[in-house]
Amino acid sequence: MTITVATLGFPRIGPRRELKHALEAHWAGKIGEAELLDAASGLRTAAWARQKALGADWLPSNDFSLYDHVLDTSVMLGAIPERYRSADGEAGLATYFAMARGTTGDDHGACSHGSVTACEMTKWFDTNYHYLVPELVAGQKLALNRLKIVDEYREAKAQRYETRPVLLGPVTWLSLAKGRGVDPFDYLDEVLGLYSVILGHLAQVGAEWVQIDEPVLVLDLDDKQRRALTRAYARLSRSGPKLMLTTYFGGLGENLSFAAALPVAGLHVDLVRAPEQLDAVLKAAPKSLLLSLGVIDGRNVWLADLDALLARIEPIAATRDLVLAPSCSLLHVPVDLALEKKLDPEVTQWLAFAVQKIEELALLKRALNNGRGSVAGELAEASQAAASRKASPQVHNPQVRERVAGVTAAMEARQSEIGVRTAAQAAVLGLPAFPTTTIGSFPQTGEVRNARARFNRGELDAAAYEAFLREETERTIAWQEEIGLDMLVHGEFERNDMVQYFGEQLSGFAFTINGWVQSYGSRCVRPPILFGDVSRPKPMTVAWWRYAQSLTEKPVKGMLTGPVTILNWSFVRDDQPRAESCRQIALAIRDEVTDLEAAGCKAIQIDEAALREGLTLRRKDWAGYLDWAVAAFRLSAAGVGDATQIHTHMCYSEFNDILPAIGAMEADVISIETARSQMELLEGFAAYRYPGAIGPGVYDIHAPRVPGEAEMVSLMRLAQAHLRPEQLWVNPDCGLKTRNWAEVKPAIEGMVAAARTLRAG
Ligand code: GLN
Ligand code: ZN
Repeated sequence: MTITVATLGFPRIGPRRELKHALEAHWAGKIGEAELLDAASGLRTAAWARQKALGADWLPSNDFSLYDHVLDTSVMLGAIPERYRSADGEAGLATYFAMARGTTGDDHGACSHGSVTACEMTKWFDTNYHYLVPELVAGQKLALNRLKIVDEYREAKAQRYETRPVLLGPVTWLSLAKGRGVDPFDYLDEVLGLYSVILGHLAQVGAEWVQIDEPVLVLDLDDKQRRALTRAYARLSRSGPKLMLTTYFGGLGENLSFAAALPVAGLHVDLVRAPEQLDAVLKAAPKSLLLSLGVIDGRNVWLADLDALLARIEPIAATRDLVLAPSCSLLHVPVDLALEKKLDPEVTQWLAFAVQKIEELALLKRALNNGRGSVAGELAEASQAAASRKASPQVHNPQVRERVAGVTAAMEARQSEIGVRTAAQAAVLGLPAFPTTTIGSFPQTGEVRNARARFNRGELDAAAYEAFLREETERTIAWQEEIGLDMLVHGEFERNDMVQYFGEQLSGFAFTINGWVQSYGSRCVRPPILFGDVSRPKPMTVAWWRYAQSLTEKPVKGMLTGPVTILNWSFVRDDQPRAESCRQIALAIRDEVTDLEAAGCKAIQIDEAALREGLTLRRKDWAGYLDWAVAAFRLSAAGVGDATQIHTHMCYSEFNDILPAIGAMEADVISIETARSQMELLEGFAAYRYPGAIGPGVYDIHAPRVPGEAEMVSLMRLAQAHLRPEQLWVNPDCGLKTRNWAEVKPAIEGMVAAARTLRAG
């Protein structure tokens, strides 16, 4: 039987973030449209050449995007909200970027006079990739616009690459869309009409197959979505090319028999997230359906266990044709491990980035087509690397294991209940009503980033860098004191990133130089790689806290990133459950918390910005995740006495469905994002009778706009409608690192004035 290799999609940003540089140069007016498009086409050509050379048989096209593939789909269908239509006459690049970024040039597309805000952006399933949410309004006119998918297919063909165009499926697109006054699914038939036309075009220019992505098939579907899928594929299967219906990020579950019965020519399934579905898939899929097995992890960076995979696939390969593929597009992993010259060689041999993953697939193919003997050397090398990982003392630290095994329920519980703690803390802290504070960071100015860059390049020595940071901290403390904030922060000037800063000081983490992954548009992140048992060789933040506290009589908060957030923003080892890794991090943070307390710190904030995004895609799995995530937070926090105040911060506003879990974290004070939502989400906290204190953000730090005192007072009055006054703190929505001092100073001064007004009654 024939075995082939597909990639489903290759990273768009380029091995050295060439796309980012070209985009940003274009936005800054340094290069024109033609030059940007040239750079993009160069990246596509390089990606095809690379994948082909690595042994991929099915090359993707239209996996490239200048910003986001969901936005591309919306533009293709003409779902362009009226407010962007003026950016250029014909829905060209200016319109596209206006939708992506707004027209102020601000990263968050924040609005100022006469400008347009960007489309809403949110996370793509459970990844850290963000897409632009499609918008549909009543009376929306849809019409095919830019046939990028056809253009890119032809572009490849002109270079003699036969590709399988990637098309976001209509039901996933509609499911992600927001209707304003309409149900997006009202547009189903119209959308299907347009999809038919596109598929017809693709057939005409020679595309034999199209990869049509319907990741919604791994979610809990409602009847409307099912009916839409049935209707969609009955129609689209008659439109020309053969369809490879592509599912990923989980198992098909109860949608399997339904999906396997759709009239498509092929089905791709994710066997990394859901290896257990293989047997059921084989049973459900008729031989006439070409199966694409997602056997290599498209979401993580580890070498695969090729021997084990071969043992599973060999018997299947004897009976039917197969495509071997990554579980999902390679968009979510860095490009090429070979660019990592500074990574510990021992760790490096355990890893695979996009390029290496295609090599693994090609190796599997050769083993299946020509027998394992034909690739014996490579297989032996891979199993040697796997064996070294299993045995490495860098990965396995018996002391950490022992400590984790010794965790008791008592270690996860504060000494007394919230009422007792609140009284003890009040006695120590002596704060006024409506205490004011900030979330931790102050502006990371060009100067701060510059000093860090020079220090990293060796141009600034450690003493000079430290002196610079001390000065920044000192000035920030003095200013906070002067304007009358009640609980101060040191400003986080020494931190490059809230996760990396801790990862670099913990053992068990590695950091790449070029391991960038697209987060949104030109924005890329370099997630730490959590490869081994985690421990904390020495205190990480105590010296900075101590220095800051030495400058003032006011309490200075200790500032930490929580275990769940460190976990969720890293590539996590796959040789033990995530819960286990999280617990190890929690113990390390716990050590830091108790060290801060011992140093005299009275209030410690443990940020859990990423707790919610770790939620599993299927609701039935939520409780399992929340159980261990909340337990990890509690373990990190509960080593302190009643009089030490534990804060946490979460910068998002969808709380209602996880409020019991938030309550179970038992933080004394939680600060949340509310400035844009008129305190609505406090209703949920009130209904749930949330017992702790809450700082509902009154300053939207995502926009350059400075809120006035009166506005912040009225937001707090809204908050008082839901909560007891003694429960309320006054603070911004999030950290201030992305803002500048010219905005921050008046905003925070106004906030302090607002608190005084509230105290006056
Ligand atoms: N303490 C961090 C800061 O102030 C929190 C950032 C976040 O929640 N994203 O920057
Ligand atoms: Zn935040």
